[in-house]
Amino acid sequence: MMSESSQSFYKHVAQTSDEPIGLEIDRAEGSFIYTTDGKRYTDLISGIAVSSLGHRHPNVLKAIKGQLEKHLHVMVYGEFIQSPQSKFAHLLCEQLPTNLDRVYFVNSGTESVEGALKLAKKFTGRSKFVAFHNSYHGDTHGSLSVTGRNVYRDPYQPLLPNVYFSDFNSDAVFDLIDEETAAVIMEPIQGEGGIIPAEKKWLQKVRRRCDETGALLIFDEIQTGFYRTGSLFAFKYYDVVPDIICLAKAMAGGMPMGAFVSSSEIFEVFKKDPPLNHVTTFGGHPVSCAAAHASLKTLLSDDFAEKGMKIEKIVRSILKGDGIVEVRGRGAMLGLQLRDSVLTEKVVNRCFENGLILGWTLHSNSLIRIAPPLIIDENLLRSSLNSIIRAIADFS
Ligand code: PMP
Repeated sequence: MMSESSQSFYKHVAQTSDEPIGLEIDRAEGSFIYTTDGKRYTDLISGIAVSSLGHRHPNVLKAIKGQLEKHLHVMVYGEFIQSPQSKFAHLLCEQLPTNLDRVYFVNSGTESVEGALKLAKKFTGRSKFVAFHNSYHGDTHGSLSVTGRNVYRDPYQPLLPNVYFSDFNSDAVFDLIDEETAAVIMEPIQGEGGIIPAEKKWLQKVRRRCDETGALLIFDEIQTGFYRTGSLFAFKYYDVVPDIICLAKAMAGGMPMGAFVSSSEIFEVFKKDPPLNHVTTFGGHPVSCAAAHASLKTLLSDDFAEKGMKIEKIVRSILKGDGIVEVRGRGAMLGLQLRDSVLTEKVVNRCFENGLILGWTLHSNSLIRIAPPLIIDENLLRSSLNSIIRAIADFS
């Protein structure tokens, strides 16, 4: 007998596929999600790279509760001085190079990409974008226009004109970047494309080509950010500083939030001709900002870079053998490439039955995403990985 909540979910909540996972959630804590039928699941994908500090981290809860006592929404973005926003912007910019000194707050990843694209167009006076096959930047029209997968784009054509796609890690991109290019947009490690890291030297060359042509470089660090890949942001590892960085997902410890960060010089264009030409009602919501501040403070108070790299080491040491092609990625943003999609589906389903939440990436059905909370207990991680190995052995 389906619960009322379940009936209503299937009847009234808009569905995104015919086969939703359909776990009925009771509560979540740390690395675990508990369902209403009394089962406990280990979350090995962190709600898709969101719960890096685990579910309901006490510092985040405390900050949220504190803000609830003060105020919720008071005014549209950019007009009133709200201390959770100012405090978080300050802490975030302190961690960034000097050219990333101004933050525009939004509510989601796709909104941050929309803002970044508009900012690049207005600052450069150009309209051409260069993006990459297999990329994922979000599902609103602008971000879908720079997303490199035709099955998702085709139903919504026409999208933005003047977007050119290159293979990732290919030198073909250098000819596409020219004096008409507003920006190159890329994920330093492609997430939904199947956890594909950029090559360091190539990425540095992309930066140089942008400098030569006056094109801006936008890094979409929505998935790679906040220690997911063994450094606070992936650009630190690559030693490449972008002109605009897009953030969301893990930013606010489980609250909805996004941001795009750039220089004061670039952001000047948003203030005039006309004023108020890029505004949002809820961007930088005080509760999300309070949560984000607590989350970042907590991340900075411990060695999360090392924790991420340790996760990678453990995953690589356990996930090998028959059926496994490779483990790709960096830190706690890893992909387990299996032989084929049939095996992958069987393994994911078996793990699910055994209380382990795994998943595919959007563009790849033969790869299992491994992105645990960074606070995951080492023994829990090892036993979870061993149950993946057992499932692979059962079906190989
Ligand atoms: N960019 C990247 C790299 C992402 O992984 C995602 C979400 N998977 C987005 C953008 C879109 O973020 P949101 O779902 O918050 O709009």
